[in-house]
Amino acid sequence: MDHYNGPIHFLSYSLSGAMEDTYTNPRIHTCTFWRPCRHPDSNGGLCGTIINCITVAAHFRNGHGLVDLRRKDHVICEWSGCSKKISRHNFVRHVREKHLCHRRP
Ligand SMILES: [Zn+2]
Ligand SMILES: [Zn+2]
Ligand SMILES: [Zn+2]
Repeated sequence: MDHYNGPIHFLSYSLSGAMEDTYTNPRIHTCTFWRPCRHPDSNGGLCGTIINCITVAAHFRNGHGLVDLRRKDHVICEWSGCSKKISRHNFVRHVREKHLCHRRP
């Protein structure tokens, strides 16, 4: 990593890899809001992983198995108190905007 340029470089790299399918309009986020994930985990509690706009796609893919759903499938947002039905490819955007305080530019 001789040419590692610090956090900015790292985040843009993460975006290009993790968001391509779940978020079709990737942009660099300036959001700095972090909060615990309130989706249920496999033990019946809440997940609790600290996520933000940038890590949410990878988190739901790796932690909640979102990757195997087809784009047109609908999913129920199980975020505590939400229960909204959304199409799978809008799911990450929904979580960002409704639960992570993301503002559209
Ligand atoms: Zn989670
Ligand atoms: Zn929701
Ligand atoms: Zn954001």
